[in-house]
Amino acid sequence: MLTKIIDQNKIDHFEKWLENGEKFVIVSHVSPDGDAIGSSLGLWHFLSLQGKEAHVITPNAFPDFLRWMPGTKGVLFYDSMRAEADKLIAEADVICCLDFNVISRIDEMGDAVLASPARKILIDHHLNPGDFCKIVISHPEMASTSELVFRLICRLGCFDDITKEAAECIYTGMMTDTGGFTFNSNNREVYFIISELLSKGIDKDAIYRKVFNTYSESRLRLMGYVLSHMYVYRKHHTALISLTEKEQSRFNYIRGDSEGFVNLPLSIRNVICSCFLREDTEKPMIKVSLRSVGSFPCNQLAAEFFNGGGHLNASGGEFYGTMEEAKQRFEEAIEKFKPQLLACYAEKK
Ligand code: 5GP
Ligand code: MN
Repeated sequence: MLTKIIDQNKIDHFEKWLENGEKFVIVSHVSPDGDAIGSSLGLWHFLSLQGKEAHVITPNAFPDFLRWMPGTKGVLFYDSMRAEADKLIAEADVICCLDFNVISRIDEMGDAVLASPARKILIDHHLNPGDFCKIVISHPEMASTSELVFRLICRLGCFDDITKEAAECIYTGMMTDTGGFTFNSNNREVYFIISELLSKGIDKDAIYRKVFNTYSESRLRLMGYVLSHMYVYRKHHTALISLTEKEQSRFNYIRGDSEGFVNLPLSIRNVICSCFLREDTEKPMIKVSLRSVGSFPCNQLAAEFFNGGGHLNASGGEFYGTMEEAKQRFEEAIEKFKPQLLACYAEKK
């Protein structure tokens, strides 16, 4: 049995929208990851089975390693299909906002979502949800939004309506947001849910291979390059990796090629914080990704130094300036956070 973490009144409220609404739009965050697409498609399969006209729209494309997921062919990208997407958003009865907390996370699509008269529901696990939705199902203690989608469908009494395809999508989101159940994954109910998903006939080993073992040769070489240029701040138990635009073009970089790189330095003994700086090829900025282990709040570092935020152990932000300046800023940040880094390191030992 699962704990009933979602308030009953929110379930009842959404159930009414399900009874009355016909046109559903599901939106998720920019540069969608496995949980964004997994939770969105999991809900999409369910809504479609209920006879609803449902569409998933993301601000831009998702990485190739998610393309196998059932239902991806129908996903619309706002940056390249704007007219069609605007119409669907404007005419929707219900808009489901998945896996993001603030409207800025869906870029320009946010204006269209805010302007739409549709009823809106947020289903998310990031801290500090904004108040742009009527129903807010926000559970930062959950490891993934996909898990929340599973819980929501079950609480609607519709476990039987979770198809194998939906189960594959939900499992993918749960797996990717926990690094293959290697972090944020101590909640025993996660494994109960996996067991339920297995009962739908999913092949979890095959899903792992499809998501994690589909690297291109150039991605693996890029990884080798990035790691060989990694800098370790031993006194701060921190590692830094980076990728300039020039380096990206040298390795024929395509979107998603550096997905997960930020986690790699955490496999070094004694490193508890990792940072990845990547020059964006579209905007004049450096994307900052941060990861930590234990109690070190990398979201605080992201908020204070990179105008960002996120989770305790996975956060990000942006930096406007050169790569050298971004590195200097990061060095200032870890110097300021040195007491917390040392405290967390001592805890871990
Ligand atoms: P990633 O490193 O995978 O891009 O992001 C990890 C997490 O950090 C995301 O799930 C999100 O919560 C947070 N995050 C990433 N970039 C930003 C940003 O620019 N602003 C804020 N507020 N959070 C971010
Ligand atoms: Mn997520």
